[in-house]
Parts: sequence; structure tokens; C-alpha cells
Amino acid sequence: YALYDVKADRRGDFAFFTPSLEKRLRNETELEAALLSADLPSELQVELQPIVSLGSGNACGVEALARWNSAAIGKIEPARFIETAERLNLIGSITTNLFVKSLAHLAVLPAGLDLSFNLSARDIVTPSTIDTLISELHLHQIAPQRLTFEITETALMRDFDSAITQIKRLRDLGASIALDDFGTGFSSLSYLSRLPIDKIKIDRSFVNNLDDPGVRKIVAAILGMCQTLELGCVAEGVETPEQFLMLRAMGYSLAQGYLFARPMQVEELQGWLHGPGGQYGVADSDTGLES
Ligand code: C2E
Ligand code: MG
Ligand code: MG
Ligand code: MG
Repeated sequence: YALYDVKADRRGDFAFFTPSLEKRLRNETELEAALLSADLPSELQVELQPIVSLGSGNACGVEALARWNSAAIGKIEPARFIETAERLNLIGSITTNLFVKSLAHLAVLPAGLDLSFNLSARDIVTPSTIDTLISELHLHQIAPQRLTFEITETALMRDFDSAITQIKRLRDLGASIALDDFGTGFSSLSYLSRLPIDKIKIDRSFVNNLDDPGVRKIVAAILGMCQTLELGCVAEGVETPEQFLMLRAMGYSLAQGYLFARPMQVEELQGWLHGPGGQYGVADSDTGLES
């Protein structure tokens, strides 16, 4: 939400902040203080959300999602603290910490499962962060082919040339690159074919509105474009059986959402993969997040 939408109440020359703005400003200051004083290695966790194949219903990968339970102020959403961490120059160590935890989780999961890991705008223009990710991959002896790095269009656009340079380093190793939240950002289709990416993740705002015929046409057209460009396509935020059926009928093969599973701790995920929730269990034929 915007921090600066001041509902100013003009009386004479004075503008009064609304109580809610005051609260948000205080919260931001608290957030910064909490981040700066946090014991991040112990307060940060990684949850994993399955990415499933719509044909078989099997999980073929998991997305790592950051969780911060601050000793000072409690649970904070990643979308919120990642941004603050970038501003405070803490993002490099946070990303590295989350990546190491994610790799440790991946090591105890079936070899057929891939890992998708989110990179922030700052991460993808910071060579030393990419260096660290690459050396951790080697150290954990994880095949880069099992990794997808998710980046957003807006992050890419901030410093396009440096971002492309760093992304290519990961891709040259054999890792995949996914454009996250596709459709919400820049979306100039002319450059899409020239980006060093392997797949897109269509934003959940589209999946949410599949009952709108216009949105349905766009969602179908995005898949067609991906097929032409030989890009994989993952639908995000699938919450209802109707959405699942519509996407599958359109030809979508990969999806993620609460309908299948919420983000889980690794122990819970292991149970889910093998237990009764595992109508979406792992199949041998279903390795990789190929297009
Ligand atoms: P994202 O990468 O697009 O991740 C998907 C978000 O959608 C996650 O929210 C996930 O919990 C949520 N989600 C999944 N399925 C559904 C569904 O069916 N319905 C709804 N309403 N939501 C669903 P989360 O975990 O709060 O993360 C939000 C964003 O924060 C992420 O969006 C990503 O941009 C960022 N983020 C999360 N973890 C990390 C991280 O480790 N590093 C970086 N740089 N960013 C991260
Ligand atoms: Mg993501
Ligand atoms: Mg997304
Ligand atoms: Mg998102």
C-alpha cells in the first residue's frame, strides 16, 4: 500500500496526517528497527509451496517462500520486509540465508522435485550475491538444472543490462529463469522473445478473474504466446476447482495455488507428498518443470 496517500485535512496552512498514516509510518520505523536488530539466521524460515502438473495432479516442484517471525514485532509478510531489507542493505545476507535453507530442504525431498527461488530487484544486479548463490549450489552439490530463479519484470527494468548479465550467469550454469507475476508489469511483448528466460508465471490476478470472458481470452493468449516462444507457463493462485478445470481445458500444464496446497514447512510437505493429501504426490514421470 502507498505510504504517502496522505488524506490531508487542510485547515489554514496545516495538513494533518490521518491516524492510519501515522500508524503506518510508525510501523515502518518499527519494521526497520526490528530488521536491524534481528537474529536473522534464527528468525528467518523458508516455507515450500508445491507446483503441480495439471495433467497428472502430481507435484513437480516447490517454490521457496520467505517467512520472518520477528522476536520484536512478530510475523511480517515477505512482500513487506524484502523491500525494507533492500533499503537497509540487508537483502544480500537475507537472500543467502534463505537460499542455504532452501537447498537444505531440497536435499531431503525427492530428487524429482525442482526448487523455485525468488530473487529481489537488488539481488539480480549484485554480482557478489550471484557469486554466493553459485558457490552455495556447488557446496550443496545440487544440480543447477533443479533450480529456477524467479524474477519480476519490474525488477528487471530497474537496471536492465546489469540484471541480464547476472541472470545469464545463473542460466549458463543450467538453472532456469522464470518471469514472476507476469502481466502486472511492463509486458512489452516485443522484448519477451529476446529475454534469457525459460518460463513465465502468470499472475494470480488473472487466475482470480477467469469468470470474466475478456480475462479468459488473455489467459489463453498468454499460453499461446508461451508455446510460440517455447516458454514454460505456470498459473499462480489457483484457488477453486473451476479455475483448475478452466486452465486445464485451455491447455495449461502447470499451476500453483491454495487449491492444491498452501506453503508448508518441509516436514509438513514431506507428509503431504506421501500422505492422503498426496493425490498430488510425486510421480517418476513427472520430473522437472519443463514446458
Ligand atoms: P510470489 O513470488 O508471486 O509468490 C506467490 C505468493 O502467492 C506467495 O505469497 C504465496 O503464498 C501466495 N499464494 C500462493 N497460492 C495462492 C493462492 O491460491 N491464493 C492466494 N491469495 N495467494 C497464493 P507470499 O509468501 O506472501 O509472498 C509474497 C511475495 O513476496 C512473493 O510473491 C515474492 O514476490 C515475495 N517473496 C516471498 N519470498 C521471497 C524470497 O525468499 N525472496 C524474495 N526476494 N521475495 C520473496
Ligand atoms: Mg515467486
Ligand atoms: Mg508470482
Ligand atoms: Mg507476487
